[in-house]
Amino acid sequence: MKVLVTGGAGYIGSHCVKVLLDKGYEVVVVDNLETGYKDAVDSKAKLYIGDIADESLMDRVFSENQVLGVIHFAAFSLVGESMTNPYKYYENNVAKTNRLLESMVKHNVKNIVFSSTAATYGEPEKTPIVETDRQLPTNVYGQTKLAMEQMISWYGKIYGINHVALRYFNVAGAIQDGSIGEAHNPETHLIPIILQVANGKREKLNVFGDDYQTKDGSCIRDYIHVLDLCDAHVLALEYLLNGNSSGVFNLGSGEGFSVFEMVEAARKITGHPIPLEIASRRAGDPAILIASSKKARQVLKWNPTRENIEVMIQDAWTWEKNKRY
Ligand code: UDP
Repeated sequence: MKVLVTGGAGYIGSHCVKVLLDKGYEVVVVDNLETGYKDAVDSKAKLYIGDIADESLMDRVFSENQVLGVIHFAAFSLVGESMTNPYKYYENNVAKTNRLLESMVKHNVKNIVFSSTAATYGEPEKTPIVETDRQLPTNVYGQTKLAMEQMISWYGKIYGINHVALRYFNVAGAIQDGSIGEAHNPETHLIPIILQVANGKREKLNVFGDDYQTKDGSCIRDYIHVLDLCDAHVLALEYLLNGNSSGVFNLGSGEGFSVFEMVEAARKITGHPIPLEIASRRAGDPAILIASSKKARQVLKWNPTRENIEVMIQDAWTWEKNKRY
C-alpha cells in the first residue's frame, strides 16, 4: 500500500517515512529540499525532488504510484519568520496546499492526514486544551495552518476527501540510533538550542522571559517524542482507510515542563552546565500550552511510549552529537 509523504525530508516527515516503512508501507516522498535534507530520506522510499504545487510533477507522482493516502508535512514552520515575511508563509503553506489538494482531486486520492499545530489555538482560554477550544492564532504561521485545516475540510465537503488534522504541541527527540533528527536553519527551538550549548556550538541559552505566571516564571510546554507523533500519523491514516469519518486530534502528553526544567534535565543528561541568560519575552509566546490528547488516545488508540522528557532529550542529544546535515 503506497503512502505519499510531502515534506518527507524534513524533521518530522523523515521520521514518519521510517515508521511507515517499518510498518510495511511503500513510501513515496515529495520534497523540494528548501528546508529538508536529501540524506534524511530513507533509501527505501521513492524520492521525488520538487514542489507539491508543481502540477506536472504531481501528475507524474500520482500516475506512477497508486497512492492511497497522503501525509502532508510540507510547510514552513518558523513563527518568527512568519511575522516578518507573511507572503512566504501564505504562498508556501496555504497556496501550495491548495494546489496539492487540486492534484489529489484530479487523481482521485481520497485520504489526507495533515500536520497542524497547537499554534492554531493561540493564547488558550483554559488548560489543558481540547479540540473544540477556540482557535485564534497569534502569529501568521498558526494562521496559515488554520487556513490549511479549513481548506482541507472544505475539500472534504466538496470532493469527498477524508481528512484528519493532527494538532501537535512541542515535538522533540529523534530516532534512537541518531541517524536523523531536527535540523532547522536558523535553529529557533528550545531543545536543539540547549543541546548546541552543551555541544559547544553556542555560548549560552537565552531564556525568553522569567516573569510569566507559572511555577518558576518561565514558559511551560507539552513535549512529545517525534516517534510517538509519527505513530499517531500512521494510526490516523489507518483510521481513514478503515472508513472512519474525518476529524481533528491534539497530540501531546498532557504534562507541562518549564524552560528551566528542560535545562535542568539537559544538564543531567549531558553533564554540561548549560549557562543561561534571562532575555525578554518572545512576541506571541503563550505562558502555558498543554494538550489534552484524550481523544487521540480513545479514538485512534494512540499509545505514546516515550513521554519521559529525559528520553526525548537523550535521543536529541545522540542526534546532536552525530549530526550529518
Ligand atoms: N525558548 C527559550 N529560548 C530559546 C528558544 C525557546 O526560552 O532560545 C522558549 C520559548 O519561549 C518557549 C519554549 O522555549 O516558551 C519552547 O519554544 P520552542 O521555540 O522550542 O517551541 P514553541 O513553543 O514556540 O513551539
